[in-house]
Amino acid sequence: MIPGAFDYHAPASLEEALSLLSANVDDAKVLAGGQSLLPLMKLRLAKPEVIIDIGGLAELNYIREEDGRIAIGALATYTDVAESELIRSRCPLLAQTAVVVGDVQVRNRGTIGGGLAHADPAEDLPAAILALDAELKAIGPDGERWIPAREFFITMLTTSLMPEELLTGIRVPACDGYKSAYRKASRQAAGFAIVGVAVCLKESAEGVCEDIAIGVTGVADVAFRAEKVEAALRGQNLDDTAIERAAALVTDGIDAIEDVNATPAYRSHLAQVYVETTIQAARAG
Ligand SMILES: Cc1cc2nc3c(=O)[nH]c(=O)nc-3n(C[C@H](O)[C@H](O)[C@H](O)COP(=O)(O)OP(=O)(O)OC[C@H]3O[C@@H](n4cnc5c(N)ncnc54)[C@H](O)[C@@H]3O)c2cc1C
Repeated sequence: MIPGAFDYHAPASLEEALSLLSANVDDAKVLAGGQSLLPLMKLRLAKPEVIIDIGGLAELNYIREEDGRIAIGALATYTDVAESELIRSRCPLLAQTAVVVGDVQVRNRGTIGGGLAHADPAEDLPAAILALDAELKAIGPDGERWIPAREFFITMLTTSLMPEELLTGIRVPACDGYKSAYRKASRQAAGFAIVGVAVCLKESAEGVCEDIAIGVTGVADVAFRAEKVEAALRGQNLDDTAIERAAALVTDGIDAIEDVNATPAYRSHLAQVYVETTIQAARAG
């Protein structure tokens, strides 16, 4: 299908993008890689009157080390993240997650800023950025603010970004000494996670869990941290029984969603299995 008519703007600077957004806040949509927005427009599920194409803003396309953390601009694509030597060596969970997003076209065009701002509950990256306790940088007319990942995702397709704010980047801690893995159950045709689990853990030479963070996507209307599983494993020997018992807590207190892919009961079961196997995958390196 063909999208409805719209005015197109390609701002040359972040400042210009922000003033265009403020001036058209009720009618405008920001365009980054277009992988979510364009299909919605073609289906006429989104009918913005103004498009603000930020794709040319080089200042939002970077991956670098800043004060011991890894900073990634909103316009970095999944391919940029998956192939970055800095990310692969200092924060491999992000690369492990980015490399399984969609297909090669989606990874080459889709940006991390677009993916996170869109907040589809079946996207992969939210699980990783929750497990990493990432912070997301928003800039709007009142200046910039950092939003902790746990406060960013509100519900399906809804974040704590204000309408006149742009997501300009994220920062994550370097994960030296940690092991990590991301695994998901998905339908081959699309790749979206029916269940996706990101694990970042630190264990002693004897196999005792010193620290663990688990992000879960696809299961509920918003990605979440499996805090009960984490609490059950911290300080414990990471043997199969302990992992299996802890994994059973993953959807405790969580409303699993129902859709064409899975019933809530099946999703809960998958979540449990994927927590177990992703912890094992992280430990195995
Ligand atoms: C065939 C297909 C398969 C896919 N499979 C997967 C998959 O397996 N896993 C997965 O996680 N995802 C998957 N996706 C989704 C994909 O990851 C997202 O479409 C992509 O990340 C969105 O980023 P974008 O740059 O294309 O955003 P756009 O489509 O340009 O924008 C998406 C939304 O975010 C807003 N936006 C964009 N950038 C910003 C910003 N900087 N600040 C504020 N708002 C912004 C836009 O206004 C729009 O509402 C798939 C998509 C397709 C088309």
